Amino acid sequence: MLGLMQNHPLLISGLLDFAARYHGDSEIVSRRVEGDVHRTTYAQVRQRAAQCAHALDALQIAAQDRVGTLAWNGYRHFELYYAVSGSERILHTLNPRLHPDQIAWIINHADDRAVCFDLTFAPLVKAVAKRCPGVKHWIALCEADTLPAELAATVAGVLSYEALLAAQSSEYPWPVFDENTASSLCYTSGTTGHPKGVLYSHRSTVLHAYAAALPDVMNLSARDAVLPVVPMFHVNAWGIPYAGALTGAKLVFPGPALDGKSLFELMRDEGVTLAAGVPTVWLGLLNFMREQQVRLPALQRTVIGGAAAAPAMIRAFEEELGIHVLHAWGMTEMSPLGTLCSLKNKHLKLDKASQFALQVKQGRPIFGVDVRVVDGNGADLPWDGKSAGNLLVRGPWIASDYFRSEAPSPLQDGWFPTGDVVTIDADGYIQITDRTKDVIKSGGEWISSIELENIAMAHPGVAIAACIARPDPKWDERPLLVVVKREGATLDRDELLRFYEGKVAKWMIPDDVVFVPAIPLGATGKMLKNRLRDELVGGKPSAPQP
Ligand code: ADP
Repeated sequence: MLGLMQNHPLLISGLLDFAARYHGDSEIVSRRVEGDVHRTTYAQVRQRAAQCAHALDALQIAAQDRVGTLAWNGYRHFELYYAVSGSERILHTLNPRLHPDQIAWIINHADDRAVCFDLTFAPLVKAVAKRCPGVKHWIALCEADTLPAELAATVAGVLSYEALLAAQSSEYPWPVFDENTASSLCYTSGTTGHPKGVLYSHRSTVLHAYAAALPDVMNLSARDAVLPVVPMFHVNAWGIPYAGALTGAKLVFPGPALDGKSLFELMRDEGVTLAAGVPTVWLGLLNFMREQQVRLPALQRTVIGGAAAAPAMIRAFEEELGIHVLHAWGMTEMSPLGTLCSLKNKHLKLDKASQFALQVKQGRPIFGVDVRVVDGNGADLPWDGKSAGNLLVRGPWIASDYFRSEAPSPLQDGWFPTGDVVTIDADGYIQITDRTKDVIKSGGEWISSIELENIAMAHPGVAIAACIARPDPKWDERPLLVVVKREGATLDRDELLRFYEGKVAKWMIPDDVVFVPAIPLGATGKMLKNRLRDELVGGKPSAPQP
């Protein structure tokens, strides 16, 4: 017997309609590429998204066609999120930090019909346009009179976004269709092999937005002002553009200005209560706030994820700045939220040190994400907080396959292998010890590169640290620590290695330290350990398998 409930599809357009109706005057504030700060509201975004959907109709972009974006976090990008998906097309957020060859490859693989871009990325568009014959329209996110004539002359099919919208009606009857219809597309950064397309659906996106807003997740409400530092081209800014509309939260978009000073000023001026981003971006903000001795009284919490947040960073936010850190873990394939670290009622009785020991973990699964930890043979390992193995996940916002992939589905008996090595404790708290390909295998034992990095990061002379495997004739691999010193710090190899004594077993202490001016970061702000391995130790022959 089926339930007697209305079968009303979960569609992305519904989120914006809701926000426009009940939070019509909630603000969307954006630092623009032009440098100024722009203000709009959900009600106005609803109207402009309607105009944009009409413009896409006029360009004869069909339902389910892909519309690419090369854009910073800002109101026009936000309008496209709703206009493209709401009108049954597929929003394809491209990562402009990738190499132009890779961007051209991704545009062609996705078969994008149009690409909308911030003028910052005009040189990129010029570099790839000729190689992407499937793209019929290159839409510059600017007014007609700011569209550079030279761009229009060199790239066929360049249009001004504002000119396209101007003539259109601000009413658009959003189509109603199956909630499992594809809504958006995001390629993983492809640190190994070609990038892979993750194709989200309306259903997965709306369910993920509900989950993101939960109290033990981001705890979003209409009282929040949220600033996603995480780019809208990196897994849909972790779902904040959708969860923001679902809750009516004010949204604050930083545009291209991601340095500590610019972020600080925008957060201060807009009363931001929640911000979210990868650890490397927070280093800039932390340094700025420390140097200038300034604070952000309105900022209650930050979500830090995408790579391990070092305990030293979490402590600095909590104790020096009074900002609560929510450590989160996820993947492009998971929309991306998988776990988030919040305490349970029983933990409130614990002393500060025990609470902190929990808080530095990546957290426990959100309802909707099932997890397992398995050994190399696929057998379940105990949830004892010690047994490390491969993390498998499944759930309604987790990918079942990649877009236009010729390879077999990645699923193993319905479970998605994350490529992360983890422990899970009896309460379900997950700790990521490594990515499978970064684990250091020494004499048959595993050494967690994240653990060794976290220790180095707690040394006051260290700005950032990466730990990689160096091939070793006797032990197979040994840890090598790569460090960027904090400005003005005097620190040498022996002092840093002594810092490990008593913190990990002797055999886990890195063999050596290499000081470098900078650690290469990937397109989503994560440390590129494969590049470090190539440059410093001649690569890693094979990824160890658990
Ligand atoms: P890519 O694989 O291109 O880097 P993702 O952005 O999807 O793409 O990265 C997901 C991976 O990032 C996870 O599988 C995990 O290894 C890592 N990661 C994400 N969040 C955390 C975290 N809080 N701690 C440690 N690793 C993390």
